[in-house]
Amino acid sequence: MNETFENQNTDNVTAAGQRLDEVRERIERAAKSVGRQDSTISLIAVSKTQPAAAIIPVIHAGHRLFGENRVQEAQGKWPELKAKFSNLELHLIGGLQTNKVKDAVQLFDYIHTVDRPKLARAISREIQKQGKKPKLFVQINTGDEPQKSGIRLDDVDKFVDQCRDEFKLEIEGLMCIPPVDEEPALHFALLQKIAEKQHITSLSMGMSADFETAVQFGSTHVRVGTAIFGARQK
Ligand SMILES: *Cc1c(COP(=O)(O)O)cnc(C)c1O
Repeated sequence: MNETFENQNTDNVTAAGQRLDEVRERIERAAKSVGRQDSTISLIAVSKTQPAAAIIPVIHAGHRLFGENRVQEAQGKWPELKAKFSNLELHLIGGLQTNKVKDAVQLFDYIHTVDRPKLARAISREIQKQGKKPKLFVQINTGDEPQKSGIRLDDVDKFVDQCRDEFKLEIEGLMCIPPVDEEPALHFALLQKIAEKQHITSLSMGMSADFETAVQFGSTHVRVGTAIFGARQK
């Protein structure tokens, strides 16, 4: 018998439920403050670096949406969890190499990090091959940071058009990670503006430190790790 699956410690489940409730209440308050319904906001529990033993209490507490930033790490945890628990929704929130696209399309329900034509083309091919259709977000480098991935601001319109026209991809949303040393609100507002222009309805923005601000600027998918799981092991 697999101990991590069968021997659930109820204290762990209760604690996970409390942390989830706290984050959900903060989302609800932030949504209310700008006249939004919190039901329009998906909370993605970012479980990168967390072992299955830390994830299972969160699932038992009722949560179903999870985010991972590495395909290989996710492959080590999620096929077994998906077999055991129903209705799980898995989000890829980290950079994707083209040689991992096949695996990513197989495992993930959402890909938040479409950030270059070569990757978009590879995803398009895999979608056709597998007949599986993950929802796609384009990552935007709102701070135009040279070391950061994401489409540069000047190239957004061209890239979104190319995804739609050339690769026949439906673009569900936009995603950004604001520069660490800048006011995130400026970047969230910018992403919201770009999305409106492109008639894109979903926005993946906000992490543990800034998800309330993101909600006030229209985020539909907040990606929260530390506030749910506690600090990550290095
Ligand atoms: C790790 C990560 C998160 C979650 O970060 P926390 O600060 O732990 O909430 C969100 N988005 C991305 C892209 C990440 O890599």
